[in-house]
This record gives sequence, structure tokens and C-alpha cells, in this order.
Amino acid sequence: MDAYYFNEEHQLFRQSIRDFLKKEALPNIEQWEKEGRTPRAFWQKFGEMGYLGLNFPEKYGGLDLDFFYSVILIEEISKCFSGGFAILPMVQSYMSTPYILHHGSEALKQKYLPDAIAGKKVASIAISEPGAGSDAMNIQTKAIKSGDHYVVNGSKTFITNAYYGDFLIAVVKTDPEAGANGISLLVIDNKSEGVSMRKLNKLGWHCSDTAEINFDDVKVPAENLIGDEGMGFYYLMGGLQLERLVAAVGAFAGCESALQYSLQYMSERKAFGRSINKFQVLRHRIAQMASEIEANKYFTYHCCKLHQEGAYVVKECSMAKLLGTELANKVATECLQFFGGYGYMEDYKMARFFRDSRIGTIGGGTSEVMREIIAKMVIDGQEYDEA
Ligand SMILES: Cc1cc2nc3c(=O)[nH]c(=O)nc-3n(C[C@H](O)[C@H](O)[C@H](O)COP(=O)(O)OP(=O)(O)OC[C@H]3O[C@@H](n4cnc5c(N)ncnc54)[C@H](O)[C@@H]3O)c2cc1C
Repeated sequence: MDAYYFNEEHQLFRQSIRDFLKKEALPNIEQWEKEGRTPRAFWQKFGEMGYLGLNFPEKYGGLDLDFFYSVILIEEISKCFSGGFAILPMVQSYMSTPYILHHGSEALKQKYLPDAIAGKKVASIAISEPGAGSDAMNIQTKAIKSGDHYVVNGSKTFITNAYYGDFLIAVVKTDPEAGANGISLLVIDNKSEGVSMRKLNKLGWHCSDTAEINFDDVKVPAENLIGDEGMGFYYLMGGLQLERLVAAVGAFAGCESALQYSLQYMSERKAFGRSINKFQVLRHRIAQMASEIEANKYFTYHCCKLHQEGAYVVKECSMAKLLGTELANKVATECLQFFGGYGYMEDYKMARFFRDSRIGTIGGGTSEVMREIIAKMVIDGQEYDEA
């Protein structure tokens, strides 16, 4: 079945990223989790390998490969038992910089993409605010034009990569009276005067930084506007499909690794004179989860193929994100149970998997929001067109 989606070159790429992660990341993740960040030097190495520019044009330093190379990358980084480690490149390459690539001016592309692809600069996507998460249209951060720049005031919260990062794709209101048509995307340098940040403490994702950000009369050059003023909400709706697809890939890959890890443990752990993988009740649970993971994986691959072919698939991406992240919650709970008390110990990777997977049904649009989108399409016949 995999041969339908991956050719021999894809498989060689999978092996090369596995080797790289085994040597450069896996021995260090525990330490990075304790330190609360993954060092910039690592991301530069990652960038040098080309891993941050798989789907970007060569003229900005990318490799211009097909989307299934990205699927492989996301699967492999999601199998490292650290959601905090995996999220940085996911945000960088699939959730933030694509807005510059698809809608930004040539000057913005030249200024930001080569450094982001090389791992020299780290990007964030800043949508959520203290008073507006799911209801993104209700954001209050304002960017009012004044001559050759915008003056930005407001705040954002829960922004991944921002605290140690370099620039934000910020969702702002350039015309506060115009509803969805008054929202725009601005590139804001984190070091701009008037930007202040606080690092947030989280349940999981410990080696990823998450920030609350305040903008106090921040002057942003007008040329940092991405695309047209007032189009930001529509660009965002398009970009969120890729964000959700990437989340779905990460979710099933994480489930696969949790199941593999559990099977190994269950074959070694003995109770009542036999390996615990001989208890029928546990075997049936494994069989159920293995079936659900596999069905989820191939539905997600199907969505990836549609994405690669250029289709704008809101319903399918929402379904894949909903099912994959809900399944990850279930797999995390049930697999931890197989480990008994050891599952609760930090010495076992299952504890981290349990913490880290919990964000899946919240970030990038909650499960409730996914169900709302799907319900509108399935029940009310609503359709969404790409901006
Ligand atoms: C670790 C982490 C990293 C994040 N990274 C980023 C980032 O990089 N950039 C960014 O912009 N944001 C980021 N977020 C924010 C994330 O996208 C939001 O938390 C999410 O969209 C939900 O928004 P909220 O937290 O304001 O919850 P709310 O919108 O207040 O929702 C609260 C509850 O109400 C439910 N609800 C809301 N509306 C409805 C409805 N219409 N019908 C039914 N139920 C509903 C929600 O599903 C949820 O259960 C991150 C969050 C976390 C925790």
C-alpha cells in the first residue's frame, strides 16, 4: 500500500532523515526537554540538510520536492516522542512561512525565506489572542496605517516558536469596522521596539517555547504587509488547511510509534506467569487501535494526495485533523495503561507522549471547531473556495 504513495527515492529520504534524527536529535531530546528549548544550532543543522525547505522553490534555498517528502519528514519527527521537538519545523515550514511564499511580495520572500529555510531564522504564526482563539475573526490587535508604516497595538497568546524566534506572521485588523474584510497579515520582527514577550509554562511540549506577546505602538514598515490589505482572513483560511493536514500526519505517526513502543514493552513484561501481550483483553485493545491507526493513516495519505494535486479540501483536512488527534488522545491513554505504574514514570517515553499528544485536539482549531466546519459542509451544503 505504501508503494502507492512513496517511490524508492522517498524511501531513501526516509532512511536519511531517520539516520540524522538518530544521531543528532534522539540522544539530546531528554536534555532539551529539561532546558525548555531545542538549541538554535540544531535547527541550523536541520536547515543545512534541506529539511526546512522541502516544498520551497530552489531560488529561496528550498528543494522543490513533492509533498510526500514533507509527509515523511513530519512522520519521522513525530516519532521522536517529543511533540515539542516536532512542532518547531512544523510551524516554520508549513504553518507560517507559506503565507509569505504564496501571498507575499518578492521583496518579502527574499528578505525572510532564505534564512528561514536555512534554519538561521525562526518563524511563528500569531493568530490567537487572550480574548479570541476559536473565534479568530474577533481578534482585536490593530495595525493602523500611518504614512509608510503601520502602528500595531494589541496582544497575542499561545504563540509557538515566538519567545526564542525571529519573526511573526501576525494576524491584525487594518480596518476594525470591516469584519473579515478588515483583517490582514503583517510580518513583524520580534526585536521591533514595542514588542514584549512572556514565556508560558505548559503541560507538555517542554522543549518548544510558547509566548504571550504585547504590541505597544510597534512601527512596522508598510512593505511588511503580506499580499493585499483586508485579505488576511481569506489567506488564513487557506493556510489552515495545510496546518490541519500536517497535524493529522503528526497525529497518526505519533500513534504508530506509541503502539510499537507498547508492543515491545508488552512482549517483555510478565504477569501471572506470562507476557502481558498474551492477555486477550489487551490483545483486543491492540487490535482495535492498530485498525483505527491504519484506517486513519491511509485516509490522511489520501488527503495529502489531494493536497499535492492542488485540490482545496477543507472538509477532508478537517476530518483528518479531527479523527487523527482524537485517536492520539485515545492511544495515549490506552498505551500508557499497558505500562502500568511505569507508564506514569518519566523514565519511560510514554509519559511524555501522554502529555504532548493532549494539545492535538486544541491547537490549530479545536475538535469542536472541526466538527462545526464539517457539519456546515455536510448538513448545510456550505462550500469554501480558496482565496
Ligand atoms: C501549546 C499551544 C500552542 C499554540 N500555538 C499557537 C500558535 O502558534 N499560534 C496561534 O495563533 N495559536 C496557538 N495556539 C492557540 C490555539 O490555536 C487555541 O488555544 C485554540 O484555537 C483554542 O482557542 P482558545 O484557547 O482561545 O479556546 P476557546 O476558543 O476559548 O475555546 C474554549 C472551548 O470552547 C469550545 N468552543 C469554542 N467555540 C465553539 C463553538 N462554536 N462550538 C462548540 N465549542 C466551541 C472550544 O472547542 C474549547 O473547547 C496554541 C495553543 C497551545 C495550547
